[in-house]
Amino acid sequence: MRLFRSKEILGIARDTLRFALEASEETHPNEYMGMLRAEDSRKLGLDRKGQVITDVLIIPGTRSNATSATVQSSMIPNDIKSVGSVHSHPSGVLRPSDADLATFTSGDVHIIVGAPYGWGDWKAFDNSGQQTTLDVLDVELPEEQFFDFTQEDIDREL
Ligand SMILES: [Zn+2]
Repeated sequence: MRLFRSKEILGIARDTLRFALEASEETHPNEYMGMLRAEDSRKLGLDRKGQVITDVLIIPGTRSNATSATVQSSMIPNDIKSVGSVHSHPSGVLRPSDADLATFTSGDVHIIVGAPYGWGDWKAFDNSGQQTTLDVLDVELPEEQFFDFTQEDIDREL
């Protein structure tokens, strides 16, 4: 039993879910797999305390075929704080496999998306493999830090 949760996951940003569905469709007929990262809800302008899933991170060296995607855990950077995972089932079956259940134990929320990768073709599960609700939230995603400089900065560099 966990006595407390560090920070409740309030939901997933609509754009992030759309990204995961599109990436899964592009990867079809192979499985797509990524780690979920979340942002503090107050940074996104929400007045509820918690975290919102805003990022899908692909781990380099992930091998995938039609029935499984394998993450090389040695490739996961130590500073990546992941709240869970997302992967696709090209079969369209939105149910975790035994192998999925074994990996779900780390992280709080795990999304399975399935062919044909439409807006309703996904389900979320908790770390025991029980289906759970995950709200889709309309939030502005923060700009990537990469773009977070001005023309002035660029001129100074040149
Ligand atoms: Zn699976």
